[in-house]
Amino acid sequence: MPLQFVGGKFTGGSGANTINVIDPATEEVLDTVPAGTAEDAEAALSAARSAFDSWRRTPANTRAHLLHEAASKMRAHKEQIVRLLTLEEGKPVPENDEEFEWLTNTFDYYAELGRHERGRVLPSGEYTQLNMVIKEPYGVALCIIPWNYPLLLMAWKVAPALAAGNTVIIKPSELTPLSTLYIAEHCFDHFPPGVLNVVTGYGKEVAEPLVTHPHVPVIAFTGSLATGQRIASLAAPMMKKLHLELGGKDAFVIADDADPQLAARALAYAGLTNAGQVCTSTERIYLPKGKARQFTEALVAHVSGLKLGPGIDSSTDIGPMIGSTFREKVEAHVAEAVSKGAKVLTGGRRPDYLKKGYFYEPTVITGVDHSMLIMREETFGPVLPLMEYTTFEEAIALTNDCVYGLGACLLTGDPLKAKMFLEEAKAGTVWINDPLTDNYAGPFGGMKLSGGARELGQEGLDEFRETKHVHWEFNTAPKPWWYPYGR
Ligand code: NAD
Repeated sequence: MPLQFVGGKFTGGSGANTINVIDPATEEVLDTVPAGTAEDAEAALSAARSAFDSWRRTPANTRAHLLHEAASKMRAHKEQIVRLLTLEEGKPVPENDEEFEWLTNTFDYYAELGRHERGRVLPSGEYTQLNMVIKEPYGVALCIIPWNYPLLLMAWKVAPALAAGNTVIIKPSELTPLSTLYIAEHCFDHFPPGVLNVVTGYGKEVAEPLVTHPHVPVIAFTGSLATGQRIASLAAPMMKKLHLELGGKDAFVIADDADPQLAARALAYAGLTNAGQVCTSTERIYLPKGKARQFTEALVAHVSGLKLGPGIDSSTDIGPMIGSTFREKVEAHVAEAVSKGAKVLTGGRRPDYLKKGYFYEPTVITGVDHSMLIMREETFGPVLPLMEYTTFEEAIALTNDCVYGLGACLLTGDPLKAKMFLEEAKAGTVWINDPLTDNYAGPFGGMKLSGGARELGQEGLDEFRETKHVHWEFNTAPKPWWYPYGR
């Protein structure tokens, strides 16, 4: 059984309970991990607090070397990490190879950005004064990770948090803790004890005691809106720094100049990667009236040719969903849409040829509208719902008719349409002709109920740093505007 990583040591945790980690492609138990308790959370916090003073004073260059070393060790263990990730999360190996690239490169990126600058000097307008802006770490950063990109989303928080001089406690999802624990054991062992800790378990049991703890000043969370709202309400009385990356319901607008074959491939990639379990999955598709039939036929032909199977099988295009409750939600959304008049063109069911695993066929559904759950709430599954628009302005209005604002996609060769879309779409990322591609230097995050945090780029580092303004007068004479007044 992999153990928790606290204060540089591996521990079985204080509680007697364990959690079975399930392979979603076979429904078999892969391994078990400790179901962490409040006591484990306290132990991790104590280790992280003890390590903080020394870590924040560690020269930025040394911190950079340690982060690079972590990335190098991960590369040396790539095969094992990608295999574990594929088994516990389910998506195909090529997608996990890509997640692995993001994991390692993010550590390298923030190693360099962390030594780049610690603030700025403001040349003062006064002859005897100096002003400075200093960026300081908060202290212990709690990093709570979801299951859909366990390593990428861990890296997007942990690497900048460490580079900024915080110590961290990682709480992986109870569904996918194995690859994180493997990395802790093989790739994080060179960090000073307590700088980096991993506690496993359920959110309420092991993370909430830290969310409410006065000595955890910053909480970086990626996950569902409901959990984000709970964390925000628990942390609000202590005015903690909250970094919340929440759900999405991304729109993809196909302009009338787009090529149907290209659109089909772009839409399938944007909506079906990781079986549609990406926060920025395309979950609403808007097609131009008049040309909708060509786009729909090309999409159905492409999607019905994709192969469903275990992620570990090299011929698989789409893996299983992470669990039965997640699949039931998708089924409920499709059923509700169909009951209101929508039509399933392909998919819309569990595959009868795969007896085990939480599979759901990639689905194209048409005749949907914004009264349906499938166009309003996060579905988080391999479903592409198609709706028609008349004018481009209407397509933008439909894009923005959503409580979330994570990403928005457009396919067009028309720069006027592209400019209009990027100006008007209320989303943290706008993708034009290249859906779901990120950039290490480009901030990623949401608007509206998707949360306002930013990961990657300079912004991603600043999420883990407090800003201090220093005003320094070298002349120690009293100021003429001090008391007493009028004499
Ligand atoms: P989730 O909210 O169920 O769980 C996320 C993490 O929070 C897990 O580690 C879980 O154990 C922990 N948690 C649960 N209850 C908690 C509590 N009361 N206190 C503290 N921690 C708690 O989400 P999930 O199902 O793991 O992930 C899927 C969701 O994540 C989707 O909504 C998806 O859109 C979102 N997501 C967002 C982004 C983004 O960048 N915006 C990226 C990926 C996923």
